[in-house]
Amino acid sequence: MTRIYPHIVVAKFGGTSVADFDAMNRSAAIILADHHVRLVVLSASAGVTNLLVELAAGLESRDRQDKIDTLRAIQHNIISRLKQPEAIGQEIDHLLENISRLAETAASAPSAALSDALVSHGELMSSLLFVEVLRERGVETEWFDARKVIRTNDHFGCAEPVISAIAELAEKQLRPRLEQALIITQGFIGSDAAGHTTTLGRGGSDYTASLLGEALQANRVDIWTDVAGIYTTDPRIVPQAQRIDEISFSEASEMATFGAKVLHPATLLPAMRKNIPVFVGSSKDPSAGGTRVCCNAENPPHYRALAVRRKQTLLKLHSVNAQPAHAFLADMFAILSRHHVAMDLVTTSETSIALILNATGATSGEADTLTTSLLTELSSHCRVEVEADLALVTLIGNALSRAAGICQQVFAGMENHPVRMICHGASSHNLCFLLPADSADNAIKTLHRSLFE
Ligand code: ADP
Ligand code: ASP
Ligand code: MG
Repeated sequence: MTRIYPHIVVAKFGGTSVADFDAMNRSAAIILADHHVRLVVLSASAGVTNLLVELAAGLESRDRQDKIDTLRAIQHNIISRLKQPEAIGQEIDHLLENISRLAETAASAPSAALSDALVSHGELMSSLLFVEVLRERGVETEWFDARKVIRTNDHFGCAEPVISAIAELAEKQLRPRLEQALIITQGFIGSDAAGHTTTLGRGGSDYTASLLGEALQANRVDIWTDVAGIYTTDPRIVPQAQRIDEISFSEASEMATFGAKVLHPATLLPAMRKNIPVFVGSSKDPSAGGTRVCCNAENPPHYRALAVRRKQTLLKLHSVNAQPAHAFLADMFAILSRHHVAMDLVTTSETSIALILNATGATSGEADTLTTSLLTELSSHCRVEVEADLALVTLIGNALSRAAGICQQVFAGMENHPVRMICHGASSHNLCFLLPADSADNAIKTLHRSLFE
């Protein structure tokens, strides 16, 4: 009979935390400092997935070789620091050969399925190397192929997990192993029912960690990254941003949805379902502490954070024949739904609909949300206007739709910015502004100064 391990922490390390040999060693030290960490989920080393995505799009022979050389250099920088580099060096070279072969096929016949098979190599390589780093520190570990457990549908590039299958597979395949050794696995990758490799969308390793945390009913999920927690906004944009020590699932989830890259948008859903606290901290400086995301934060403030989502497209649909408004809305939404367009922000008037298409992280490949077939179908029903290169700046908070004086304070901060669209009201947790991409950072800086500093 399998004994349920008393305390399980799932620890995920992002790209910068496994970027090179030193980063891997810092991450190893974090794992060894907490004996509750039983399962480790790894991203590809920083930069690797971007290179693989470019290869998957199909490159000319010479460009292909350049990318593969860069990939090889990243891996061999790590391998050369190992005491026994031979066996693992051969294994990694074998994966690099696979990459080369798949990239050649992608150059003549690219496909979303091929792209997932190709990009999955980033996580496969980093996890194999990490096992070696730990082994050389004398730690017993087992490399585990995440595709055995992360069952998804076959929506390549942004596959959706099948929660019940993952729970069953984790129980059978993972739980018994947790007692034997520390398990090292890959984030981001999964497989469909036919065994094809799939991916969960860019940044999906966070999601893998919480999916596995949910399946194993872990006590905590730790997300180790390059910032010491979740801040009031991206500290790269505003160095004065303040760390949020404790935040509720719903607020952090809202931040992730609206672009706070520190967490993949879906990360908190599994954690919320099983009420598993999530910790976010820096693998570069674990002693700096971090953010605890949990069920309810104490005294949630009106203004919690600012987030920005880039690569937004504004799609405006204007009715051309005097169709009643309700029929026009129904027809347009039916078309958008048939084309799987995810709409999270929409405004409407009597004769027009404006909606925002979000291309960030939509897929692991380079697929475009606004496809030619969608445009053709829409154009046969209405006049279509498209404006690209926009950014969505969102204020995240609590009871925003009820608090008095908010508009005055927030709109004053937006005074000098060319706002293209405003969304407020459906959720009391957000207030969104669509702006030209090059105005977004300034808008964040002004709003942060007036609302948070
Ligand atoms: P990883 O590779 O570890 O998954 P990511 O680059 O995906 O790391 O996420 C970490 C980055 O998220 C930070 O470097 C930071 O620039 C960005 N970020 C965006 N919004 C926030 C926020 N509100 N708080 C902290 N970091 C944020
Ligand atoms: N390596 C993948 C990416 O870069 C997944 C992740 O890092 O979370 O998107
Ligand atoms: Mg990430």
